[in-house]
Amino acid sequence: MARKVELSRAITRRVTTFNMTNDMPALQAAMFSKVTATQHALEVASDAVQMFGGNGVTCEYPVEKLFRDARSSLIEDGCNEILAIKGGTLMIDPDRLTPTA
Ligand SMILES: Cc1cc2nc3c(=O)[nH]c(=O)nc-3n(C[C@H](O)[C@H](O)[C@H](O)COP(=O)(O)OP(=O)(O)OC[C@H]3O[C@@H](n4cnc5c(N)ncnc54)[C@H](O)[C@@H]3O)c2cc1C
Repeated sequence: MARKVELSRAITRRVTTFNMTNDMPALQAAMFSKVTATQHALEVASDAVQMFGGNGVTCEYPVEKLFRDARSSLIEDGCNEILAIKGGTLMIDPDRLTPTA
């Protein structure tokens, strides 16, 4: 769980730092980092629910909310399926990375 959290932090911070300091943002890398971090968040939250057992799905413990939030993150800010299609398209046709395409 810690490995996935740290991997997600690393890729997200790296892409964010690059995009904030470059005129040409790395669109594809931003998609990769969003999909990676949200998938890891869901996996880690799911493991946390498992560790809590039945209590993990009750509103009495915070992991239930963390799991719901992590699940939502796969949908919000561009659902991961669409980002995967867009990212794949950019790999096939890098010209679409230019702002005018
Ligand atoms: C917690 C949360 C906060 C949000 N906050 C905001 C906000 O602040 N501002 C804002 O504007 N919007 C916000 N949204 C809306 C969010 O951007 C949309 O939910 C998201 O773009 C998905 O659109 P949709 O819900 O209409 O799902 P749909 O477009 O109906 O898609 C439903 C599902 O179908 C699948 N799907 C759809 N199209 C394809 C395809 N071409 N290929 C493969 N699979 C596909 C995906 O699995 C997708 O999850 C938020 C959503 C959530 C859950």
